Amino acid sequence: MSDVDPSEVIARARSFADTGLAPRAAEFDRDERLPADVVRTMAAEGFLGAAIPARWGGLGLDPLAYGELTEVIGKACASTRALLTVHTSIVAGTLVDLASKRLKEKYLPALARGERIACFALSEENAGSDAAAVTTTYTRKGDTFVLNGRKKWISFAGIADLFLVVASDHGTTSAFIVERDAPGVDTRPMSGFLGNRATHIAEVAFADVEVPAENLVAGVGAGFGFVVNTALLHGRYSIAWAGVALAQAALEEMCSYATRREQFGVKIGTQQLVQKMVADAVTNVAAARELCRRAGRFLAPRTADAAMETNIAKYFSSTIAQRATSDAVQVLGGNGCWSGFPAERLFREAKILEVIEGTSQLQQVMIADFGYKKYARKN
Ligand SMILES: Cc1cc2nc3c(=O)[nH]c(=O)nc-3n(C[C@H](O)[C@H](O)[C@H](O)COP(=O)(O)OP(=O)(O)OC[C@H]3O[C@@H](n4cnc5c(N)ncnc54)[C@H](O)[C@@H]3O)c2cc1C
Repeated sequence: MSDVDPSEVIARARSFADTGLAPRAAEFDRDERLPADVVRTMAAEGFLGAAIPARWGGLGLDPLAYGELTEVIGKACASTRALLTVHTSIVAGTLVDLASKRLKEKYLPALARGERIACFALSEENAGSDAAAVTTTYTRKGDTFVLNGRKKWISFAGIADLFLVVASDHGTTSAFIVERDAPGVDTRPMSGFLGNRATHIAEVAFADVEVPAENLVAGVGAGFGFVVNTALLHGRYSIAWAGVALAQAALEEMCSYATRREQFGVKIGTQQLVQKMVADAVTNVAAARELCRRAGRFLAPRTADAAMETNIAKYFSSTIAQRATSDAVQVLGGNGCWSGFPAERLFREAKILEVIEGTSQLQQVMIADFGYKKYARKN
């Protein structure tokens, strides 16, 4: 049990978000880098270990409190929120769920303190939605596994110390923790992204990289069914809250602007066509936040429905984030299309959420399949 007060953690996050992130988010986006002091503060405040249980050195927040923390950080800066998604939700969350005690002891305390940064290396040139198609290989060699291959689009690979890598041995997929300084690991920065620009995305190449056998996560063959599914469950929960964050930020932008800007001698917010966009955003943000909380309640004891509830929350939340941020651009008119206001950045960031952690189309396929099984009459 953690004796941390979640509301105190969230209050600290809000203070950091308001003073240390929101005023600088446009600069991070423009410079395509997250300054080291941001990562240091996220670590020092314990946010990078927020969802890691206290016994491994984290704050031990439950999914609902952690979701709220994600929203607070994500509303101020999408790239900083992405660090939470990748490091804390995906990698640390997967190790907490699946790693051996030895592997947990080896890495979780350092991840919880943010002394080491972790990223998730699944995607490849020809393995995106079809994640099982990875061609990065592993072979057993004595007390090690040897990895060869190339990963693409890996968030924070540019600064990470550890990589959770998914690889295949003739169709048997397994996952490994690979340390950055292992001989044969090479990263090449990628730039020019629509959003998440300050997330140090890179390609990662593995050339005969020897990994100690103890760094295998959850056993040989557990790569796709267990590790990837667990990682994506944590990642999707985080992205669902990221959608709420961006939609909430967009809502505040459009309301603030519509109540000040005058055209035709009246505030534009009095125009019914503008009111419709505001009303939709108010309603959709409230609905998305409730879906996230609902998913969080299923996740807390990890019930059988947790994965589908999380898919539903991620799908809805990323969809309405795209809609609300697009409407914010519309309400701000020319200013919405200009980097002097946050709306255009929010709009770019929201689109990313419909692509990562399972595209919206893949969510639709899974949700429809669930719907047929659950709701088709049997007679
Ligand atoms: C900013 C950013 C950060 C990222 N960070 C990471 C990271 O940290 N780690 C990592 O491993 N990867 C990362 N990725 C990669 C990301 O996970 C993939 O881009 C994503 O899974 C989609 O794969 P793809 O780009 O190959 O698209 P594709 O799989 O080629 O999909 C292209 C289109 O086809 C559609 N489609 C594909 N299959 C189906 C189907 N069966 N039914 C219906 N439609 C389908 C998709 O929905 C999509 O619209 C990142 C990507 C971005 C943009």
